[in-house]
Amino acid sequence: MRSDNIDSFKKKLHYSKALIREALKKFKNPVIACSFGKDSMVVLDMLKKYSRNFTVLWNNTLVEYPDTYKFAREIIKDWELDCVEARPKVTFWEIVEKYGFPIYSRNSKGHKQYATYKCCEELKKKPTTIALRNMNCDLYFTGLTRHESRLREFSARLYGDSFYSKTWKHWKCHPILNWTREDVWEYIRVFNIPYNPLYDKNEIPIDGGIRTGCWPCTQAIKYGKLEHLRTYYPELFNLLVVKKKFGEVMLDLRIEKYKDIKSRNTDYMRNRAYKQLGLEKTLTAHPCFFDRL
Ligand code: SF4
Repeated sequence: MRSDNIDSFKKKLHYSKALIREALKKFKNPVIACSFGKDSMVVLDMLKKYSRNFTVLWNNTLVEYPDTYKFAREIIKDWELDCVEARPKVTFWEIVEKYGFPIYSRNSKGHKQYATYKCCEELKKKPTTIALRNMNCDLYFTGLTRHESRLREFSARLYGDSFYSKTWKHWKCHPILNWTREDVWEYIRVFNIPYNPLYDKNEIPIDGGIRTGCWPCTQAIKYGKLEHLRTYYPELFNLLVVKKKFGEVMLDLRIEKYKDIKSRNTDYMRNRAYKQLGLEKTLTAHPCFFDRL
């Protein structure tokens, strides 16, 4: 880290710790959302330095990466966490069967793509809402950072890092809202805290960085997520692309993408040829064809 960045990191760290301490003084039932990704691990580590009186809420979507399951179980045990798992009532595959694959991101109203909206609602929002209600949560810590998406930046500008949520009916606190990815890794390095080994599977880059969370989420196909999956988790890649036929969906999407310029476009012709050849043969002949859209 450059020296001016180190100064900035120290200031942010000081601010975040103060924010956590102040928030803890005011509320009785603090809960921290933890995905066992790098950001929530940083907040969790800071929090446990000031209090043991909090509950960890893990939204286990049932489609977490194998590395996440292993890491989460180890941390829960080693750090002796009081952890509640919020699990969905329906599976990712049941949602796909009903609404299709969650391919496109949601907009700020949440309705740009219905499948994505429904999927996040069933796997994340509903189980989390029920768990928080049962826990009587009055203060909710998260590891949210503003740089992660435009939606988060928008929400950060609108609400800041600490506010009462009328929707959720509790106080929300995002202690590392203004931290960069570099700040987060600096904290992990300086305080030597464990992190999810998924981040070490990084020789195949994903645009925007590796994220924990639902492994079969197809929102990130244009960022290279499937190449990452094919390289590090070939069985999961096969399950998604072959068995659950997401490869067929990709072929159709590629044909659709080029259809307006089809007469002179070789990509269009190639996609048509692969479509005729069939998914399994195309995968054998050209596995990287499905790496990104
Ligand atoms: S992140 Fe993707 S897979 Fe996970 S709940 Fe949302 S849409 Fe579904």
